[in-house]
Amino acid sequence: MRRKLVVVGNGMAGMRTVEEVLRIAPDLYDITIFGAEPYGNYNRILLSPLLAGELRIDDILLHDDEWYRAKGITFYKGRPVTAIDRLRREVVAADGTVARYDRLLLATGSLPQMLPIPGADLPGVIGFRDVGDVNRMLAASRHHEYAVVIGGGLLGLEAANGLRKRGMKVTLVHLMPTLMEQQLDGDAGRLLRGSLELRGLDFIMPAETVEILGNDRVSDVRLKDGREIPADLVVMTVGIRPNVALARAAGLHCRRGIVVDSTMLTYDPAIYAVGECAESHGRTYGLVAPLYEQAKVCANHLVGWGCARYPGSLAAAKLKVTGIELFSAGNVSGGAGAESIVLHDRSSGVYKKLFLRNNRIDGAVLYGDTADGPWYVRLMRERTDISSFRHAIMFGEAQIEERGSRAAA
Ligand SMILES: Cc1cc2nc3c(=O)[nH]c(=O)nc-3n(C[C@H](O)[C@H](O)[C@H](O)COP(=O)(O)OP(=O)(O)OC[C@H]3O[C@@H](n4cnc5c(N)ncnc54)[C@H](O)[C@@H]3O)c2cc1C
Repeated sequence: MRRKLVVVGNGMAGMRTVEEVLRIAPDLYDITIFGAEPYGNYNRILLSPLLAGELRIDDILLHDDEWYRAKGITFYKGRPVTAIDRLRREVVAADGTVARYDRLLLATGSLPQMLPIPGADLPGVIGFRDVGDVNRMLAASRHHEYAVVIGGGLLGLEAANGLRKRGMKVTLVHLMPTLMEQQLDGDAGRLLRGSLELRGLDFIMPAETVEILGNDRVSDVRLKDGREIPADLVVMTVGIRPNVALARAAGLHCRRGIVVDSTMLTYDPAIYAVGECAESHGRTYGLVAPLYEQAKVCANHLVGWGCARYPGSLAAAKLKVTGIELFSAGNVSGGAGAESIVLHDRSSGVYKKLFLRNNRIDGAVLYGDTADGPWYVRLMRERTDISSFRHAIMFGEAQIEERGSRAAA
């Protein structure tokens, strides 16, 4: 008899793990998947172009209903799991559906962090996480004029850009003096702001939102300095928090995320966790590449191979605002012992900054020309000593290779 694998969370990490398991051992498990959302698996990254009107929902679907049928998977969509009974090895969904497991995979992702301020629960105040949020933003853009986005990170900028492209007047309120301060240095942040202003976005920063006003729907946002900004829609993009409520209620060890070892196993030997809900080596992740690495390791253990380890990942981010090239990876805050090399060509709008430590790249910010991003990440991952080509490193991989082959000729 086949063993039973139950997956809670039909998102990017959970489904990548299932794909890997099916690739390695298609007949090992009877697979049951519960998804809270009423869709097949879709590419969450592409919600931003969906909002901006550059893609349609069909373009972002990764697996339609037919895929689950063809793979023999029992797929319960729109059915959130509400409890795990670890003694009986069963999960229970909101509608009472029960599924027994030999192995359980938790892949419940994250939830948008909402500021705990008065008015945050008013209709018209939302996060930016799923297709439902995009639909709410599109509905608002059809009937209303003013949007305020709170939070100037990657998600906030993509939300603001999308709403602007849908015809709304958008103000972005950010607590810090520069945008995306976790991924960019101040100069790149200012260049980015300039480009976005040219696209019609307004910024108020640094500024703290203290209250959301309105009666039956949001009408304004109040800042700490007393200013009130008109708002028919407020999108909060101030961070995410791993969705661990289900795991915690089941008594699994959780800190910020569900704690896993380097095989993605939780403290229960029958339960694995992957994706943004998982905490590995004290870290949680909010970008997809690390989660795909986790998925591979997890599948390796689910099929019984037992030879892969997840050591942690280096995170790299790209902004998806059409026409703006922006890439950031590693540690871009500098700090003691850090050096930096900068190339800034104002006429072409290209800005590149590398952060170095002991002649090894620690972080990279690229604006205007991001072609060498993956190369810098490779050098970072491999901890390559760059002393021998440091003088030319800002000109990119192609230049270094050309010089190398000229020298060899
Ligand atoms: C707008 C947007 C843009 C992004 N852009 C980028 C980008 O450019 N680059 C990048 O690397 N990353 C990006 N990300 C982040 C990336 O999408 C996430 O890192 C990734 O989707 C996380 O995968 P996950 O499987 O952990 O969580 P998710 O993809 O969120 O999947 C979790 C799923 O579990 C479901 N679920 C939760 N609880 C239950 C339950 N109890 N029962 C059943 N189902 C449940 C949820 O409804 C959800 O469908 C972006 C995210 C957003 C929202």
